[in-house]
Amino acid sequence: MNITIIGAGAMGSLFGFFFARSGENVFLIDIWQEHVNAINSNGLGVEFDGKTTRVNIQASTKRQDTPKSDLVIIFVKSTQTQQAAAQAVKCINDKGVILTLQNGMGNADIISQLVDADKVISGTTSHGATILGPGLIRHAGIGPTLIGMWSKNNNFELENIKKIFCSAGIDTKIEDNIHLVVWKKLIINVGINAITALTGIKNGSILDLAPTGELVRSAVKEACDVAMAHGVKLADDMAEQVFKVAEATGLNRSSMGQDVDHKRQTEIDAINGVIVSLAQKKGMSVPVNQTLTALVKTLQKNYK
Ligand code: NAD
Repeated sequence: MNITIIGAGAMGSLFGFFFARSGENVFLIDIWQEHVNAINSNGLGVEFDGKTTRVNIQASTKRQDTPKSDLVIIFVKSTQTQQAAAQAVKCINDKGVILTLQNGMGNADIISQLVDADKVISGTTSHGATILGPGLIRHAGIGPTLIGMWSKNNNFELENIKKIFCSAGIDTKIEDNIHLVVWKKLIINVGINAITALTGIKNGSILDLAPTGELVRSAVKEACDVAMAHGVKLADDMAEQVFKVAEATGLNRSSMGQDVDHKRQTEIDAINGVIVSLAQKKGMSVPVNQTLTALVKTLQKNYK
């Protein structure tokens, strides 16, 4: 299978590594020239449990260098989805499909505006990765990957993609209701990301003080109400599920926390920000998510 990955940072490189190791034809596209040069010169290094393994993968900054692909995976940050999706459409062959496993809500909708519903796959992954430097990443966590067709009106058969993922060592399941899966992950991010990013705390510390816990509960309740208004019924105990994830990842900084620490633009618009915009469409008020969004935007606008 020809697989192209657009956005070969931490996660794109990790998935590229898995596919290259299992013998798929994989190509990485990234705008980060130094990273691309390092991969082409020395292979891609993946550190896991203190041991680094290298594989040879072709990487480029230019979409034109890759052959037409059966599968294109978008792994840029959500702020770059529009640009990546425009490239992805040009990378697929006649039967090709585009997959997003990015965090946040809105990525699959952006892709769907550019291609037929039959071609858009969405999902989530519980793998974790970090960039260590050009050509080198750390595989930081292992977990399931869930995929499903974003539109119900499609005839695409996902079994083959699942098989290729599983053979590559990516434990993958097909979900009929992928919207619910993406919403659940969004709610976890709504509860943890902005609050940890703004306060500098690790995930587990949101459990330390009662007022922080209340803030998480309020943000999550607003998000669940908005989901319901848009026809998505989430479990009643979503706040408890957020606390469980915070506890299990207690010593980690959330991805938004890391973005703020490194003075990078965050995915706030696709996380708490999307709750605000979806609430507005239904005439609902979500003051907690509105405040968290405004504060993160103010913070990132004023990086020194
Ligand atoms: P990252 O910043 O490490 O990688 C993104 C890469 O995209 C960068 O290398 C950047 O140079 C590249 N890029 C930016 N614009 C581009 C463009 N127009 N064309 C091609 N490449 C471009 O980010 P990441 O941590 O790999 O996260 C990617 C997505 O996966 C995010 O939505 C994130 O929330 C999600 N995610 C991350 C993890 C994790 O553990 N890192 C886990 C699950 C989901």
